Amino acid sequence: MSNDKEQGLATRIVHADRRFGVAHHAIRKPVHRSVQYGFDTVEDLIDVFQGKLKNAYNYSRTGTPTTAALEAKLTALEGGIGSVSFASGMGALSAIFLTLLRAGDHLVSARYVFGGTNSLFGTMRHLGIEVDKVDSCQVANVEAAIKPNTRMVFVETIANPGTEVPDLAAIGELCAERGLLFVVDNTITSPALFQPKSVKAGLVVNSLSKTIGGHGVALGGLVTDTGLFAWDNYPAIADEYRKGDPSLWGLTQLRKKGLRDMGACLSSDAADQIAIGAETLALRIERTSRSALALAQMLAAHPAVSRVNYPGLPSHPQHAIAKALFKSASWLLSFDLKETDALLPFINRLQIPLRATGLGDTRTLIIPVAPTIYNETPPPERALMNITDSLTRVSVGLEETEDLLADFEQALSGI
Ligand SMILES: *Cc1c(COP(=O)(O)O)cnc(C)c1O
Repeated sequence: MSNDKEQGLATRIVHADRRFGVAHHAIRKPVHRSVQYGFDTVEDLIDVFQGKLKNAYNYSRTGTPTTAALEAKLTALEGGIGSVSFASGMGALSAIFLTLLRAGDHLVSARYVFGGTNSLFGTMRHLGIEVDKVDSCQVANVEAAIKPNTRMVFVETIANPGTEVPDLAAIGELCAERGLLFVVDNTITSPALFQPKSVKAGLVVNSLSKTIGGHGVALGGLVTDTGLFAWDNYPAIADEYRKGDPSLWGLTQLRKKGLRDMGACLSSDAADQIAIGAETLALRIERTSRSALALAQMLAAHPAVSRVNYPGLPSHPQHAIAKALFKSASWLLSFDLKETDALLPFINRLQIPLRATGLGDTRTLIIPVAPTIYNETPPPERALMNITDSLTRVSVGLEETEDLLADFEQALSGI
């Protein structure tokens, strides 16, 4: 198990657990359900509270051996120095935005972000945190939005549902020059397709509920510190965490203020489900990406379809960036039909995809975007996000590519 660098992701992910100790020669990690942790002496208990005992736990809200094993596995895949797990992707994002920004701080975010994240920005504004959203496909827009109180820049690798790809490398460079914390939501690509550390991200977020867990049976979220950001000068770090190795200050604050105080902790059972799912991440994403590309190509060539959003198509505005940075263009695509009226009957004619929200399942999921997940978003704001009335999102699953193509063909032919 030597030499991490020469082994591919699929190899590392299935063997990662063994590197952190195996009890009783058991190949699978046990699930530790205990909420409490007891010690032989009160001195040990005190040491655990003061962080002096390694691999020790005091209360499962701040972690368990099972969540720690999952954190270690994903830290390795992201090439980071440590991770903190949360009950969901939104739990992870809330912890970042609400514990690493303070009233009066300014966040520059991509305009194209997950609906929950966009809604959270509203809450942050009520708390006195300024948020400006820009079209992050051009780094100049990000640069123009930076103000003296800007602390953080936030983007998603491939935006859902429009599949916009920010100018990741240029934004990372800009943040490094200006000393800004660059936070990248890697959910759609996952570490199987892309490591945000390669574009100088300081923190990486993954919703584990999507392709990493991969089977739609557990929610989870995770923040990984890449080790690239210098926390020494970051104003929001509380005085009590400004001691010891500065590279750990961000993670400490996320675990204490984010996980312990806000309480959105991942359960050991969910962590175990996600860890099992993650073992096949590399294999699954190969299939789902291949099918997504084939489906995008077929839809783009179909007379009933007016537009297809998929970064793997040469017609996609950020195709070159996606090709340069991502191993493949992922399992997420969206498209518009020429006739909006034909949309709902078309979706009902599909036999294989489930008419469902959610992403990154084993099964293909399809949803018309405007009347569902963007139902609360006013039409002008939808328009800014390139969300038209007929925009339909597909999360491609593990079905045979040919079966999926045939099903979409038959449903389209009814238009
Ligand atoms: C789903 C999603 C989230 C939120 O994750 P949950 O685990 O559902 O809370 C955040 N970001 C992106 C890009 C997502 O797709």
